[in-house]
Amino acid sequence: MTFIPAGATIGVLGGGQLGRMLCGAAAKLGFDTAIYAPETDSPASRVASHSTVGAYEDLDALRRWAETCDVITYEFENVPTASITALVDAGHIVRPGAKSLEIAQDRWVEKSFLKECGIGTADFVAINQSSDLFEALQGMGGHGLLKTRRDGYDGKGQIRLSVSDSAEEAFASLGRRPCILESLVPFGCEISVLVARAPDGSTQTFDVPRNEHEDGILARSVVPTGLAVEVEFAAIDAAHKLAAELDHVGVLALECFVLEDGTVLANEFAPRVHNSGHWTVEACQVSQFEQHILAVAGWPLHTNYRLSDAEMGNLIGSDVDDLARLVPPDASLTLYGKREVRPGRKMGHWVRVGASL
Ligand code: AMP
Repeated sequence: MTFIPAGATIGVLGGGQLGRMLCGAAAKLGFDTAIYAPETDSPASRVASHSTVGAYEDLDALRRWAETCDVITYEFENVPTASITALVDAGHIVRPGAKSLEIAQDRWVEKSFLKECGIGTADFVAINQSSDLFEALQGMGGHGLLKTRRDGYDGKGQIRLSVSDSAEEAFASLGRRPCILESLVPFGCEISVLVARAPDGSTQTFDVPRNEHEDGILARSVVPTGLAVEVEFAAIDAAHKLAAELDHVGVLALECFVLEDGTVLANEFAPRVHNSGHWTVEACQVSQFEQHILAVAGWPLHTNYRLSDAEMGNLIGSDVDDLARLVPPDASLTLYGKREVRPGRKMGHWVRVGASL
């Protein structure tokens, strides 16, 4: 349970907005940060104390960078697990470890693990070739969601299917990669649980937000959810079980569906800080980013108090060119400093808190 003192350097794998906000939280607590990412001029590199550009697969470059860090974390879940293992084998502390990453990277492994933890999910079947699809769809009442096992995010790498669709075309459109077919969940709403877990196993959980997605991308999060406490407790209990089974250190986000009868089904988890927790910066006395840094540094977690109700809206793609219209006048604005606007790219977000809600 290594304790990392203030003034030490926290290495962050990944250079996106989550890394950028982690660097801000680390600086607040007196740490230096060192970003490692393949892109030059990444959003996080421009606020970090140090920045290295390199491929995640370049083990020599990674090891040289790791020598400059006292502890390493990640903000991007597609870092190869072999790279994390190589850093751990070289004696570096990586929090969370390779297990959380490895399981989150593959939807079939992830859903199977959730099931082993006793956490309910949609029905799912592995699809390795298009001929697996017909029978699997029939078993799910004729409809399902085909998702690539790896590299899917923000609704990418997934397609809605019914038995009358061409299985061959659908499988080809996802690059003929290993997939899973999931049953369509007739959810009433979506929520997420953000839990921070320290190396000694103690946890702090943020109040649960209700999340709305558009085209598979998070559009809006609102706290409180307005759901019955039993429903939120079921989701929180699942997230705690998962974090403990993974021996996770840092923030973990479990995304869940809530059915009309209050049943909670897990969809997926992110072994890191999460978009649906950005409101914690404005509405809690300790943000998800700060809790993650505390956990990674082996410091005691702070008690999470939510100071206010909150609403967060994402700014996607060209939304960022229309801030005057899209950002409420009483909101707090965060922009990620991305140089290029692309459709579906997360460019920033706004948060409203308190009396104005
Ligand atoms: P994902 O990439 O798995 O996070 O999915 C993105 C979004 O697609 C989710 O937040 C849901 O809104 C929707 N979705 C994903 N899986 C399912 C499912 N099995 N049934 C219904 N909607 C789903």
